[in-house]
Amino acid sequence: MRPYRKKEIIEESLQKVRGVYADLEQIPAERQCELRTGCCYFKRTGLTPQLTSGEAMVAARAWKATGRKALKARDDGGCPLLVGPEGQGKCAIYADRPFACRTHFCVEAGGPYPRRDVVDLIRRLEDIDVDLGGSGPKGLVSAISSSL
Ligand code: SF4
Repeated sequence: MRPYRKKEIIEESLQKVRGVYADLEQIPAERQCELRTGCCYFKRTGLTPQLTSGEAMVAARAWKATGRKALKARDDGGCPLLVGPEGQGKCAIYADRPFACRTHFCVEAGGPYPRRDVVDLIRRLEDIDVDLGGSGPKGLVSAISSSL
């Protein structure tokens, strides 16, 4: 594939990922996330968000835009994109956070979206993953690290 075409596909794909996030916002749901971070401590919850390659690229760009480079593990088992001490940390890429961070299980934030409401959006992310040559969702840290 010609290099400029590859770049074009990446840019189109990232726009599509942002389109999925925007469409998710249109689904009526009682949500009170507001940077609660309850789901950002993977060791505590036992759950790690899984990202498709398009989501990982969007998140990696947002992370780099903050002036940061490699992801560093936190001692408290929190997401490395969480900036600040335990209990007071904030997601450094909140506007570009992955789909799982938007539709998560956090009870405080309203619990998970019903799958029937988001399954079409998940399929769109999977299609974008295929366009980008991805091989399915990966754990947040390895997915984003490989896009930095
Ligand atoms: S990307 Fe942001 S919202 Fe998602 S787990 Fe990490 S810190 Fe939390």
